[in-house]
Amino acid sequence: MFIFMKCRWMILFISFFLSINLYAKIEVIIIDPGHGGKDPGAVDKKLGLQEKDINLEIAIYLKSFIETKMPFIKVVMTRKDDTFLSLEERTKIANSYISSKAIFVSIHTNSSVDKKNYTEGIEVFYYDNSLEKIEESRMNEIKNSDTKNFSNTLQDPISIMINEKLKVDSKALGENIAESLSIKSKEPIRRVAANSFFVVSYPMVPSVLVEVGFIMNKKITEQQYKKKLAKGIFQGILSFLKKESKF
Ligand SMILES: [Zn+2]
Repeated sequence: MFIFMKCRWMILFISFFLSINLYAKIEVIIIDPGHGGKDPGAVDKKLGLQEKDINLEIAIYLKSFIETKMPFIKVVMTRKDDTFLSLEERTKIANSYISSKAIFVSIHTNSSVDKKNYTEGIEVFYYDNSLEKIEESRMNEIKNSDTKNFSNTLQDPISIMINEKLKVDSKALGENIAESLSIKSKEPIRRVAANSFFVVSYPMVPSVLVEVGFIMNKKITEQQYKKKLAKGIFQGILSFLKKESKF
């Protein structure tokens, strides 16, 4: 009996140590609450909601989940209040952690003109450089923006390799988040797809943009529901970190 107890404690100790080690491989989680300040994002006048506020509330819950459960990971918020931040500024924050092991999660709330058919579901987007169309729009975006310094690093072989790794990791992160967000919110997954959104295209760390649900969904007004959404994202990050030993 004593030996059994001792073994059990030993196993518990080893698994605790291993899990600490595994999570310790990731050093920084950057949370990006979409929109803010003069940019409200999606608006639902009937419910009196602005996307920027919902995104920030979910981001704050997510930050507290990470800090409680993984205190050894540094949490960075691109904005902590109702401040306007350009997409370039958000990306620059992400890219200031290239030398750390970091991931970037942008939080958004969806909207649709077709209010009847699109009130439920989760969408997660990640960067995929293998899609010609996306690569083309990414290059166009570079040409038309003040981010020319990003373009210089895209062509060389090392950048191509880094891009490939970013794509694989971003996709895996997105799939894990969509899955656990769907379980927590009981909302269907509409899609986990490659996209050329600025905040998933330019960070040089694994990046995803999460549309947690639709703004016209009344549940989004409940604090408990927003907490659930944050928990879903948190558990998705956690299962990604547990599965991935690449970091
Ligand atoms: Zn948005």
